[in-house]
Amino acid sequence: MTKKYDIIICGAGLAGLSLAYSALSSGVWTNQRVLIIDKSTKDTNDRTWSFWEKSPGIFESLVHHKWNQLVFFTNDQQRIDLQHLPYKYKTIKGLDFYKYVRSFLQKLTQVEWIEESVESVESPGDHCLVKTDKGRYECKFAFDSRYKKPDLKYGDQYFLQHFKGVTIRTGNRKFNPDQAFLMDFRTSQKNGTTFFYTLPMSENEVFIEYTLFSKELLTEDIYDHELKTYITNVLGVSDYDLIDSEFGVIPMTDFKFKRRSGNVMNIGTAGGDTRGSTGYTFTNVQKTITKIVQAFERTGTPFFKNEHLGSIEKLYDSTLLNVLAEGNYEGHQLFTDLFKGTKAKTVFSFLDGESSIIEELKVMKSLRTWPFLKWFTKVVFRYL
Ligand SMILES: Cc1cc2nc3c(=O)[nH]c(=O)nc-3n(C[C@H](O)[C@H](O)[C@H](O)COP(=O)(O)OP(=O)(O)OC[C@H]3O[C@@H](n4cnc5c(N)ncnc54)[C@H](O)[C@@H]3O)c2cc1C
Repeated sequence: MTKKYDIIICGAGLAGLSLAYSALSSGVWTNQRVLIIDKSTKDTNDRTWSFWEKSPGIFESLVHHKWNQLVFFTNDQQRIDLQHLPYKYKTIKGLDFYKYVRSFLQKLTQVEWIEESVESVESPGDHCLVKTDKGRYECKFAFDSRYKKPDLKYGDQYFLQHFKGVTIRTGNRKFNPDQAFLMDFRTSQKNGTTFFYTLPMSENEVFIEYTLFSKELLTEDIYDHELKTYITNVLGVSDYDLIDSEFGVIPMTDFKFKRRSGNVMNIGTAGGDTRGSTGYTFTNVQKTITKIVQAFERTGTPFFKNEHLGSIEKLYDSTLLNVLAEGNYEGHQLFTDLFKGTKAKTVFSFLDGESSIIEELKVMKSLRTWPFLKWFTKVVFRYL
């Protein structure tokens, strides 16, 4: 038997739960019967989301820590204090987010949440059919955030942003909890563009992430070895306990993700909300969800016209990925030139797709012109 709903959300991760929370807490889906399906229990802290923001967002109460001072270290040990205000860098723990949204949804009788594995989501006509390992469901609109690597076309770039992060508790060595190292390139670059995020949550608790932009993953022992070397030799911490760890891979690609097929909308990374040049996704997801909820309020459908990450942002991302792939302008040098030549607040606004043409010119001026101009021209032609 096929059970019927108004809306089905496949995947209760960042995008699926942000959508459910935004649409239901704002009253836009008051009359909709909603089914949420996820194959996992969502009861572990499987990720930490960091992002920058000018003013408090919808999940401000979940912010675990924020930083007013950001520092960048070059591969040759230079320190750059970033001028990023009014943006603040913030962190939300995945588990805090899952628990918060789940407890909100549990109070609503119109919402059902099931633990099943979605096998297909289709839109034959003006409705959607969702098949799972246990059942069949029908609805008017479906949202899908299951991600699988897309079938790339010749010339598409597909980098992996892969990382291992650890939270450590230090003994005598104290950190400034108001100061984070946004990118610390004081490490070998032999496996690709490689840096650390160092985010102190308190004087004695620090989250450190060894991050690479490259096309291949490393073996587990290399992430561990590099983390240990950085903690001891660069941060000067010899006495510490490991509290937590996470491993992740984020696609960095210029593949054109499809937002919509009939009444099915792809959201999150699967819908193109991950910025190809950086892997940052949290803020883009919130902006897409806002567009969906506003469209629903206006028209009774979730379809919106203009993507927040539009063609120009996609062209910039594609250009950067091609420059990195070519390898003549190394990633660490490129980011060093960027943060030396442009205020971080301009870079943030550029990456948010909110910069003016003057700001975009400032960003471009700080980088080596030739590799960017060459690849920008090529990707424009490809795009056309
Ligand atoms: C470890 C890690 C750290 C990250 N840190 C940051 C960060 O600091 N800042 C940032 O901006 N971005 C970060 N990202 C990138 C991005 O923000 C996250 O991946 C984000 O969770 C993407 O949201 P999403 O909804 O697209 O996918 P997810 O949050 O992964 O949600 C997808 C959901 O679909 C479910 N699912 C998958 N397949 C099925 C199926 N067949 N049936 C049913 N359910 C299914 C999964 O269980 C999951 O709950 C990070 C990613 C990872 C992996």
